[in-house]
Amino acid sequence: MNTTTVSQNKELWNNILALVSKENEKTIYDAFFRNTSIYKVDGSKIFILCESKLAKEILRDRFANYLSQKINQATSSNYTPIFVTQDDLKDKQKFVDSSTEEPSYFKNSIIDPNYTFDNFVVGPSNSEAQKAALYTATAPGGIYQTLFIYGGSGLGKTHLLSAIGNYIKNTTPEKKVLYFSSQDFLNEYLDFVSGDTRREQLYKFLKSFDILLIDDIQMLKDKKKTQEFFFNIYEDFRQNHKQICFTSDRLPGELEGIDQRILTRFTSGLSVSITKPDTDTCVQILKTKIVASGSDLSTYDEDVLFFMADKFKDSVRSLEGALIRLNFYASINKAEHIDLKLCMEALQSMVDVSDAKSKVTEQKILNAVSSYYSLSISQITGKIKSGNIVNARHVAIYLFRDLLNLPLKKIGAVFSGRDHTTIMHSVEKIDKMLKTDVQTQTAIKELKKRISS
Ligand code: ADP
Ligand code: MG
Repeated sequence: MNTTTVSQNKELWNNILALVSKENEKTIYDAFFRNTSIYKVDGSKIFILCESKLAKEILRDRFANYLSQKINQATSSNYTPIFVTQDDLKDKQKFVDSSTEEPSYFKNSIIDPNYTFDNFVVGPSNSEAQKAALYTATAPGGIYQTLFIYGGSGLGKTHLLSAIGNYIKNTTPEKKVLYFSSQDFLNEYLDFVSGDTRREQLYKFLKSFDILLIDDIQMLKDKKKTQEFFFNIYEDFRQNHKQICFTSDRLPGELEGIDQRILTRFTSGLSVSITKPDTDTCVQILKTKIVASGSDLSTYDEDVLFFMADKFKDSVRSLEGALIRLNFYASINKAEHIDLKLCMEALQSMVDVSDAKSKVTEQKILNAVSSYYSLSISQITGKIKSGNIVNARHVAIYLFRDLLNLPLKKIGAVFSGRDHTTIMHSVEKIDKMLKTDVQTQTAIKELKKRISS
């Protein structure tokens, strides 16, 4: 849907609005939904233009989940709605539009207003990058005139880059900030800069800003002329004590097809990396996203969050995608409470894709133990300490270790984030009971039979 046309977007949105108007009171629909439209679709994001700041806030805080379900129902994909107002768009363009004779570029490259420092969860994997970004936002053009953030896809580079832009826009609105991705640049370059005059104009346009935020420079691979153009901009910014920030999904040393001389300059200021987040950071990110979407954290069992964090920690983007899918699944099944069983059902296909074998078996073990002891999966993986539940939990943990040979920490993540000593204790306990206790022997034997059948 990346390349949808305006009329396709219009049609999609009309269909969604028709659903929304059926499902909501007329006053609500008229007040917040009626005058919305799709501004653009960018990757997995749908930018929805709202009539007012109030409508934007209400939609974002109260209806984000609801709307993303409707959108995903209509498109069978995972899209995240981003709510913007005309002011958000104008903000970016006010410098552009004021000088009417000047051509304006990058009209579609808006800074996502929802990416701020406030909602960026900091953990060991990104704290250096977050500090560097915050430093840059508070002292643009300071001692480090370039900021270079690199890290794998979906780990928060665009979020941090946008947070810098949003921060500067809020605190020092007189500074002119421009955000664009290198892909935007390449598109724009083709569209506008066919001759020398056009190139000069674009150059002049870029030089009129105080801060440039340039996303995904790996896209400039083998684009020699564009790299040279960026280099000239860089030189100009350096001499004028202005700030440029870059992101790349590759280490500087691995950025093939980019002139080494240019790269050395780009990375000569602050250069920081973002790596994959740990489970705790992912849980924190999930909690932040749930609260931001206006949902109640208590709807989700704790073990659901640990399970998802563990499965999707390779990319925060896929972690978010999983949360959207889960919420969608919960809503179509009218589930008011989200436990691990529901979560596993909802995410089965997503989880299977990445690691088919072990996922199916984890679920099989939980299912088998759950039906053997007539307990729910969330009771087994949860925190309640009553006798029969604790016993079933020990058994399940023992089977995880015995049949899947998973690391203790990984098992801990499935069982509400218990630490490895607690997991080890359960395994030892069942080991011991197996030597003397007939009931345990029967249970393990029967369960293994059911799981392997
Ligand atoms: P990248 O640009 O590195 O590919 P993004 O910045 O687009 O990744 O991040 C993907 C998604 O994950 C975004 O929706 C972003 O808000 C979210 N995200 C990534 N890291 C964090 C974090 N530390 N805290 C909150 N959200 C995050
Ligand atoms: Mg990005």
